[in-house]
Amino acid sequence: MASDEVYIAGGGLAGCEASWQLAKRGIKVKLYEMRPEMMTPAHTTGDLAELVCSNSLKSRDQTTAPGMLKAELNALGSLLISIAGKSSIPAGTALAVDRKRFSRIVTREISENRNIKVVREEFTDIDSHRPIIIASGPLTSERLSTQLRDLLGSKHLYFYDAISPTVTAESIDMKKVFKASRYDKGEGYYINCPLNKEEYDNFYNALLRSHPFPKWEFEDDKFFEGCLPIEELAARGEDALRFGPMKPVGLKDPRTGKMPYAVVQLRPEDKRGKLYNMVGFQTRLNHREQEEVFRLIPALREAEFVRLGSSHRNTYINSPRHLDRTLLVKGTDGIYIAGQLVGVEGYVESIAMGLVAGLSVWAAISGKEPPYFPPTTAIGALLRYITTVPDGSFQPMNINFGLIDSIKGRYKSKKEKRLAYYRRSIKEIEVIARAIEIKRKTKSSKGNRD
Ligand SMILES: Cc1cc2nc3c(=O)[nH]c(=O)nc-3n(C[C@H](O)[C@H](O)[C@H](O)COP(=O)(O)OP(=O)(O)OC[C@H]3O[C@@H](n4cnc5c(N)ncnc54)[C@H](O)[C@@H]3O)c2cc1C
Repeated sequence: MASDEVYIAGGGLAGCEASWQLAKRGIKVKLYEMRPEMMTPAHTTGDLAELVCSNSLKSRDQTTAPGMLKAELNALGSLLISIAGKSSIPAGTALAVDRKRFSRIVTREISENRNIKVVREEFTDIDSHRPIIIASGPLTSERLSTQLRDLLGSKHLYFYDAISPTVTAESIDMKKVFKASRYDKGEGYYINCPLNKEEYDNFYNALLRSHPFPKWEFEDDKFFEGCLPIEELAARGEDALRFGPMKPVGLKDPRTGKMPYAVVQLRPEDKRGKLYNMVGFQTRLNHREQEEVFRLIPALREAEFVRLGSSHRNTYINSPRHLDRTLLVKGTDGIYIAGQLVGVEGYVESIAMGLVAGLSVWAAISGKEPPYFPPTTAIGALLRYITTVPDGSFQPMNINFGLIDSIKGRYKSKKEKRLAYYRRSIKEIEVIARAIEIKRKTKSSKGNRD
């Protein structure tokens, strides 16, 4: 692919990171940001890379999955993670930033870069004759959404996140479950967590007492009936859940030979069977309460929740169907997607997907092999997840250890094991970092245009 200039739609976290990765390798970028002329319902300034809600980029402890992801991004020379470090404020092990300072420094670095031209306009034209990175985020403008729908097909662009919690397989109490699918149709695909009447009543009452997150003004009160948060369903009556997502019909517990009073079904979330999703348990409950309430399900008493439920406005594509691991839209010559649009959740995950798209386009333009991020790294694990989830069950995901290839060996503690994950990933990332290093320009070198 040869091109004079790369167009990037969206000057948010992913778009800025992608622009920087290209510009510092000598590639000209036109970065389209529609703010302040045209605002999204959540952004409030015209600054690039505005953080719309929390000012936390989560843990920097390298023995956590978000910490490992940040360390990888640092090793790969991420602009935004380095600016986050410069604008950080004390917050224990979390990387919290002064949000205004963060966005202002990003805006300055991007605007002053001579290879980047910031265009304050809505981007509306997906033209496949030049490399394009679409990084317009969860609140992509209406007109660009229509273009994306035309490109991918209306079934493959989603506007609502109705996420149910996910637990790791190893933390489910397997003595308290049985594997079966309703009416024995198909193979024993689901893990069923039975509840007797007393356990159900207990769970139901706790749910009624709990508190959902407040909605953003622009979020519509109406949910699709099939995506109704469980607390809203529970409020309809005592048996609403038993006739809804917790219905036991068609299931027989082999240990009792009977149909349980109620059931929570868990469905594998990845091909490897490491993560399980609580089917139909999308919820807006606050996170602390979610863990407390869901632990009342006997098989989930000790569950490790790698993602909690949510229901909010979002825009993301059916990546497993449409993207390859370089974030190129399959079947196109140079349309890449980055950031939250690819189906990752969170600030740092979105930055990571901007970095990957930037490096992929750079490699394509310079005739190089794009970097391969193995699933032993946090970046590679995210890329594997978004490109391989079985059709029909794709939901946005944040980084967690359930996605990363497990590590063999005996460790004295969980912490020590996680340190081994970190060391393994950093070793791999350093190899990639060396391969993508910017070489000093020599007279004979081609491609660098700055
Ligand atoms: C209301 C809300 C609250 C959130 N809170 C959190 C949180 O607390 N923590 C967290 O980790 N994540 C949060 N997220 C998710 C968060 O948005 C993402 O993690 C992150 O900002 C996504 O990065 P991005 O670069 O993909 O998109 P963004 O950072 O949103 O950047 C996209 C940019 O594209 C611009 N744009 C859109 N359409 C066009 C167009 N057609 N032409 C030109 N420009 C366009 C937008 O103005 C925006 O600047 C939240 C999301 C929402 C919607």
